[in-house]
Amino acid sequence: MPRTAVITGITGQDGSYLAELLLDKGYTVHGLMRRSSSFNTERIDHIYQDPHTPGRRLVLHHADLSDGVALVNLLRDVRPDEVYNLGAQSHVRVSFDAPLYTGDVTGLGALRLLEAIRAGGVETRLYQASSSEMFGSTPPPQNETTPFHPRSPYGCAKVMAYWATVNYREAYGIHAVNGILFNHESPRRGETFVTRKITRAVARIRAGLQEHLYLGNLDAVRDWGYAPEYVEAMWRMLQRDEPDDYVVATGVAATVRDFLTAAFGAAGLDWERHVRFDPKYERPTEVDALIGDASKARKLLDWAPKVHYGELARIMVEADVAQLEAELSGRRVRVDR
Ligand code: NDP
Ligand code: GDP
Repeated sequence: MPRTAVITGITGQDGSYLAELLLDKGYTVHGLMRRSSSFNTERIDHIYQDPHTPGRRLVLHHADLSDGVALVNLLRDVRPDEVYNLGAQSHVRVSFDAPLYTGDVTGLGALRLLEAIRAGGVETRLYQASSSEMFGSTPPPQNETTPFHPRSPYGCAKVMAYWATVNYREAYGIHAVNGILFNHESPRRGETFVTRKITRAVARIRAGLQEHLYLGNLDAVRDWGYAPEYVEAMWRMLQRDEPDDYVVATGVAATVRDFLTAAFGAAGLDWERHVRFDPKYERPTEVDALIGDASKARKLLDWAPKVHYGELARIMVEADVAQLEAELSGRRVRVDR
């Protein structure tokens, strides 16, 4: 039987890759998107299917994670086999400026979805997009048993969503899993996350359109993986008979400075000539080091990452250079290929 999935956050980086993966596997995919006064579907335009397409397998619905009734209605109508909750206010720095909004969408949004499943009696499996930011100041390596100590409203909201997911599994037997994903990037990464901010700047500096790039803390250590590989892990988690929680990471540590070296190096540039400090990009409380131990995913999901940060930086720089060149020559271009 062809399967049906609902993806919240389908217009985001992960949602777009996951939609591609599920469509390739034969699923019908229902995506929840929020209404915007301008188009916000750039990452999924290449898989969009017009409502009049016969046998269409990608259906978009306007809804919002702050609107619990809309979630109840959507799940009642679609009755999906799998639900992937990827929607969130996902930016850590922004969460300090908009803490209540972040708590509402990123934290309570997950609870609304769980309640919609429970109260609606929907027989489905749920993936919750949990985050390494939940570990916060707990030193690496971090795995599924590492205590949480979040360092931002975003991290706190994700901890709430994580425990709500565990609680609904234990209390109501809902087949709900947490994927605790470490940072993962791609040419579709939001432009204000540090990796993409860097690779876009590299393309512009290379083209002579920009001279300087302003950044905050360069000492932070992250474990950067490649988003298309990470959405595969999400899907694998939901295929297991027993619901459980998994860390997904590369295990390879790099500082922001290391990523700068790799990204500028990929374009033959020296980052030290271009990067300047702006305290505006520092956080009131920083997460110093995230390095994941994904041995459980490796063992139980047979999942292993191939792309590490150096290769990732090269992929992202090449995509941003190609996109900029296309823009400059007046051609329309997709976000990546
Ligand atoms: P993005 O920021 O790229 O995408 C977030 C998605 O959520 C977008 O589709 C966005 O819509 C949607 N969204 C935002 N607010 C709402 C709302 N109120 N109601 C419904 N949808 C909303 O994030 P990623 O794809 O990178 O990440 C996917 C998920 O995984 C997120 O939950 C994130 O917090 C989590 N995560 C990400 C990691 C990473 O490194 N990328 C690491 C660990 C966890 P719009 O396009 O309109 O803005
Ligand atoms: P995060 O790990 O989810 O917060 O992902 P980000 O890509 O936003 O940030 C990764 C690290 O880069 C954090 O430790 C930031 O403090 C650091 N960083 C340094 N300069 C910047 C910047 O200009 N923008 C962002 N987003 N992060 C920066």
